[in-house]
Amino acid sequence: MDRIEKICVEKGLRMTGQRRVITKVMSEAEDHPDVEEIHRRASEIDPGISVATVYRTMRLLEDYDVVQRHDFQDGHGRARYEEARPEHHDHLIDVRSGEVIEFVNDEIERLQEKIAREHGFKLVDHRLELYGVPLKDGEKG
Ligand SMILES: [Zn+2]
Repeated sequence: MDRIEKICVEKGLRMTGQRRVITKVMSEAEDHPDVEEIHRRASEIDPGISVATVYRTMRLLEDYDVVQRHDFQDGHGRARYEEARPEHHDHLIDVRSGEVIEFVNDEIERLQEKIAREHGFKLVDHRLELYGVPLKDGEKG
């Protein structure tokens, strides 16, 4: 049983063969694929799987907090997904290629807590997305 399938079962989600294929794809994903890409990978395991099934399953997995959905404003307008993990991280999105880089910065984390506190809030969650294009060689350093 793959990692995500196990979580689904623990949460009482009924697992079908095709749902298992999709959870396997998401367990193995090291990136932030959109539905089209998840479908492409799932089709390699089960060619009978439809895009509609992938859409429905991803919505279900999102409702069960098994995956996290991102609507990155990278100009492609497609939702991207990743496994919901307990460790926090933020994202830097390459607006040209759509590549997503994960990062954690303690200074930013502290700063956000400080801002919340200054407004009389205890920070419970946040999402930070940076959008950029790769530096040219002469611009680096
Ligand atoms: Zn991520």
